[in-house]
Amino acid sequence: MSPTTQQNFIDGRWVDATATERVVVVNPATGEEVTLVPDSGEDDVDRAVRAASAARRAWRRTNPFERAAHLHAIGDRVHAAVDAIATAITVEMGKPLEEARGEVRKAADAFHYYAEETTRTFGQTIPNAQDGFTSLVEREPVGLVGAIAPWNYPVELVTWKLAASLGAGCTIVVKPSEYSPSSAVELFRCVEQAGLPAGVANLVLGAGRPGKALVSHPLVTKVAFTGSNATGAAIARGTSAAIPLSMELGGNCPLVVTRHADVPAAVAGTVRRAFRNAGQICIAINRAYVHADVHDAYVEQLVAATAGLRVGDGLADPTVDVGPVTTREIFERTGEHVADATAKGATVRQGGEPLPDRGRGLFFAPTVLEGCTQEMLLMHDETFGPLIGVSAFTDLDDAVERANSTFAGLAAYVYTQDLAETFHLGRELDYGNVAVNNVDAGIMNAPYGGRKGSGYGYEHGREGLEGYLQLKHLRIRHGQ
Ligand code: NAD
Repeated sequence: MSPTTQQNFIDGRWVDATATERVVVVNPATGEEVTLVPDSGEDDVDRAVRAASAARRAWRRTNPFERAAHLHAIGDRVHAAVDAIATAITVEMGKPLEEARGEVRKAADAFHYYAEETTRTFGQTIPNAQDGFTSLVEREPVGLVGAIAPWNYPVELVTWKLAASLGAGCTIVVKPSEYSPSSAVELFRCVEQAGLPAGVANLVLGAGRPGKALVSHPLVTKVAFTGSNATGAAIARGTSAAIPLSMELGGNCPLVVTRHADVPAAVAGTVRRAFRNAGQICIAINRAYVHADVHDAYVEQLVAATAGLRVGDGLADPTVDVGPVTTREIFERTGEHVADATAKGATVRQGGEPLPDRGRGLFFAPTVLEGCTQEMLLMHDETFGPLIGVSAFTDLDDAVERANSTFAGLAAYVYTQDLAETFHLGRELDYGNVAVNNVDAGIMNAPYGGRKGSGYGYEHGREGLEGYLQLKHLRIRHGQ
């Protein structure tokens, strides 16, 4: 089949880019070329930003209940289009179809959540020392958002920015990843069908070039970025110092399993959070610190559970547990991290290499390494592949020290049945999200964000909306 050609969505219309360069998207399960997208240029980005700028004044003045109705309408259409959007995800980035459907349903829910949150945006009244004055603090939209997203959750990571921006009264230009553009295209078909006014939400396709042009465009007043630390740093350097940024960057997430843990539950949590989406999650468990008393039982059960995972093409068989990794870079880095760890003394207990006989697909066996130490790359760098390192500890504070010792501050996990340990670890782990006896810290109505090298700013929750609002002090002299 010949690849599908995608277009930009600017000012309410699907349009070809003026740039002639193209990005070819490859299905990582088969190696087949599936999509052609424009690598949009500065002119294309400028056109989209100008459309968003022209729409800005009218959109910010819409009644919040009207904006909420638009968001509900988009959410309804996303729910109705689950299969089309999920298929686009699986074909381009490889996660099993059922997992992709789950991502799309959560995205639809996020539109409904921000629809409701939009109508709860309040200011305050502040007493003045002089009679006859009133100070109001009002929340206003921050303006025109340039949103840049990665490929690992290509619909949710666009949606959180899009739904919160629109709810806040901002207009937006979205630049999705060049590895997974078609699910963003399908999402914008829902935006179009929901009847959003032209120019309020725009989509520009391509790789780093349009991303760079977008974040440095003088009419953009807020940049919302999710992606790697290297790109985040480049954006921070290339953006006007005066505009707000939110940065959701990479992680290297620890798990602490204490001697009071329910070991089977810890193993089930580990398998889910280390290997789901082939480990390509910013909040994936990369390293487990396990108390010596339960270490051997944990490792044996983890190895058995990992060996039982079914790896394959999640479109041909939507029920496989793990798909291919999305990029050759990750495929190779996973192998490099295994080689680095084994050269430094770790033992491969499961997996450890690409799966044979898979044609041109990027399939790497879910891998468990035992006997890992902090200097090994996988214990302090982000693999972003299906790989976990296990290390034993005897002193809980030593485990905390090691868990906190990397650049990362996005998410940490704990398994313990002891209340004192729950609070001690919950408070000592220097991460924006800590999940105890579960591995799903990202719920829609609680703030989700990193600290340290994993970035700043929040998505999800009321805080996710506030990132697109700014305060105004309105002091009025009105007499008695
Ligand atoms: P990436 O940084 O390579 O690309 C992200 C986006 O930035 C893409 O759309 C890309 O085209 C664009 N881009 C590239 N160069 C740019 C530039 N100079 N200016 C503007 N935009 C530019 O990241 P990736 O490989 O797509 O995603 C994986 C990374 O994202 C991992 O590090 C992962 O941990 C991180 N991530 C973080 C979170 C979080 O919530 N903290 C969530 C998901 C992924």
